[in-house]
Amino acid sequence: MTIATRLRELHPELTAWRRDLHAHPQTAFEETYASEFIASRLVAMGIEVHRGLAKTGVVGTLTGKRTGVGKLRAIGLRADIDALDIEEETGLEYRSKNPGKMHACGHDGHTTMLLGAARYLAETRDFAGTVQFIFQPAEENEGGGRVMVAEGLFERFPVDAVFGMHNWPGMAVGNFAVRSGPMMAAFDVFEIKITGRGTHAAMPHLGIDPVVAAAHLVTTLQTIVSRNTNPLDQIVLSITQIHAGDTWNVIPGTALLRGTVRTFLPEVQDMAEAAMRRIVAGVAASLDVQAELDYQRRYPARVNTERETEWAARAATDVAGCDRVDLAPQPCMGSEDFSFMLRRRPGAYIWVGNGSADGGRLLHNPRYDFNDEVIPVGGSYWVRLVESLLA
Ligand SMILES: [Zn+2]
Ligand SMILES: [Zn+2]
Repeated sequence: MTIATRLRELHPELTAWRRDLHAHPQTAFEETYASEFIASRLVAMGIEVHRGLAKTGVVGTLTGKRTGVGKLRAIGLRADIDALDIEEETGLEYRSKNPGKMHACGHDGHTTMLLGAARYLAETRDFAGTVQFIFQPAEENEGGGRVMVAEGLFERFPVDAVFGMHNWPGMAVGNFAVRSGPMMAAFDVFEIKITGRGTHAAMPHLGIDPVVAAAHLVTTLQTIVSRNTNPLDQIVLSITQIHAGDTWNVIPGTALLRGTVRTFLPEVQDMAEAAMRRIVAGVAASLDVQAELDYQRRYPARVNTERETEWAARAATDVAGCDRVDLAPQPCMGSEDFSFMLRRRPGAYIWVGNGSADGGRLLHNPRYDFNDEVIPVGGSYWVRLVESLLA
């Protein structure tokens, strides 16, 4: 039976799994429902299951029945399993049962596509070598990928290459996009605490105004992008929070700014952090406030390796046809903690079309929903990748 036929046959059951996961979203390292769900399904398929890596992480190990050696001996396929702190507004009958939590990035779909591929591969085992099915917690914000790697993912489950996939709203169902090199940006966060001296709003000369200093910083920090970065390199600097004051007639004593910096090149990232330190110190000195900068590098840029990208593109082409695989998509300033796995092993991360983004079907939107029509598409890609690399 072909991959497509079998996955079509499994489609109703896999759709029910996806909706079950959708209804039970949990965030960073608390994904006990998904973890249990995944482990019990893998066990039922006869796949060896390992739990506890990064708390709620699950790894399934499957060896093929063929002998000989293909292009590689072992590969890792990774799906993320966590949800977001968003109140769902879809009104779907399988909407979130957990207040304030929602699968708004489609990780319910990613988990299901990998489980679907595992099911098919466990039935056929028509490959030589080992597949590690990696179900990773805490992709959003908390770096579950980093934790799995730090806790010995690749020492305990050795692989020659590792592959990831994310749904992409706005790209047609049945389409893929992948490119070698940087495809998603590094993710840094910062916090600036400004301390002045509170006073009566009508007597500003008796205090030191932290709000004016905050306003200067918001505009001056943009010169890192416009004046310090080579215009041909990419960078985004966004201030996302400003907190100060409680009423009309009081100049507060403190102000707080928070935000994020996104870059592709390490030298641009280094420059941005250094420039931010210089500007924060300079603005503080000129306006007589104290300013404290906490700058944290969360995720490195996600960089696909060339050979593995070619293999991924070929597998996608086998599934979708060459006119449906975009080999030069524009990189995205969003970030992904799959980058921690790609820093340790060669590999590639592919986007799979989630269909129209109309009506709020955008990632991280309270009206988003993973498109169940994508399940056999992404599932087939995983199977094809395994059968072509472990041939
Ligand atoms: Zn997300
Ligand atoms: Zn995501």
